[in-house]
Amino acid sequence: MLLRIPYTTPLPSFPAIPSTATTLQTAITAVSNFLLNTRSTLVLSGAGISVASGLPDYRGPQGTYTLNKEYRPIFYGDFVHKDAMRRRYWARSFLGWKGVERVRPNKAHVTVGRLWEGGWIGGAITQNVDSLHTMSHPDMPITNLHGLLSTVLCLTCRTHSERPPFQKELHRLNPTWSEFLEKMRSTPDMPIKRGPDGDIEVPGVKYESFRYPPCQTCLKNSTFHGMIRIDGDGAMKRIEGDGNVPGIVKPTLVFFGENLRDEIKKEAEGKVDAADSVLVIGSSLATYSAWRLVKRAKDQGKKVAIVNLGGVRGEDAFWDDGEGKVAAKYRLGDGTDGVRVEFDAGDVLEGALNILERIDGKRANRKVPLDSLGASRRDIELREIEIATTK
Ligand SMILES: [Zn+2]
Repeated sequence: MLLRIPYTTPLPSFPAIPSTATTLQTAITAVSNFLLNTRSTLVLSGAGISVASGLPDYRGPQGTYTLNKEYRPIFYGDFVHKDAMRRRYWARSFLGWKGVERVRPNKAHVTVGRLWEGGWIGGAITQNVDSLHTMSHPDMPITNLHGLLSTVLCLTCRTHSERPPFQKELHRLNPTWSEFLEKMRSTPDMPIKRGPDGDIEVPGVKYESFRYPPCQTCLKNSTFHGMIRIDGDGAMKRIEGDGNVPGIVKPTLVFFGENLRDEIKKEAEGKVDAADSVLVIGSSLATYSAWRLVKRAKDQGKKVAIVNLGGVRGEDAFWDDGEGKVAAKYRLGDGTDGVRVEFDAGDVLEGALNILERIDGKRANRKVPLDSLGASRRDIELREIEIATTK
């Protein structure tokens, strides 16, 4: 399944479900009723919950697509085949990395962790590549649907490594850029545009001079002798024409136009199948990979709650009574059968957690976790090591 560029214009708002949930307090009540009456809820989070941590959203009033109509994220095919696009990508990512590294979880992440500890949710899937869920609650298994920014991998030998040492290499190979980065950080009013994936656009900057290294494992592999050409410092030499050579290093996040890993897709579907309800937070479900998971839950007759500022892709289908209207059980309910509210997810979840803790106590002893279908960061690292060593 390919990750495609989603709708780029903000989606229209949707009437509150239940129809009384038009204030923060009534939205909180609806979400707590929803969670009180489920056995095992799967959380699906999107860029909206990381906005409070300082990362931009793709859409919404302050979204990247809204503020910068020209913004186009990089395509997988361009990264693989065009040396110039890799220089451009790594230059922008190099400039933005410090900002990503400094980002910390906010109320929404922390509350998701506490809801999980308390037994009110059974697991989570995120579309975000910022690692903030894992940073906030490292023991909670999480499926990173679109990968992570914090690691890089070689497209040829699939060796994974951490981003910081790679970033250090980029500093070494690009001393002028390194100076520029320092200048940028000490000039707060420099006109930069920060993208949701940690990349930075500086108007007027030429990216061709940026240098990046090849995979060191592939470089030493005699099979690729002469196919990976480096300069005296160890940076990739400029490649004209098709730049699809061995040893290309890419961040582990899924680019647009790239296939989701089958293993991740199955893991996410398994979580949906094991849950009895889905709670969407901070996502407009504009990417198909996320939308179809909610559709899958709906098709299985499962309950859905959506807390998002702004509209959600094709949501009429989730609430339809068969005659093009929102079904009465949703409209006139108390949130138990479904919720659709437009408030900050952190505010709503925190309020709901307070109610749940007060009237439901901890549920941890009777929770139905979806753990077996996810993996902690540690599990993922071990799995990668295993894959690398069995090759
Ligand atoms: Zn390699």
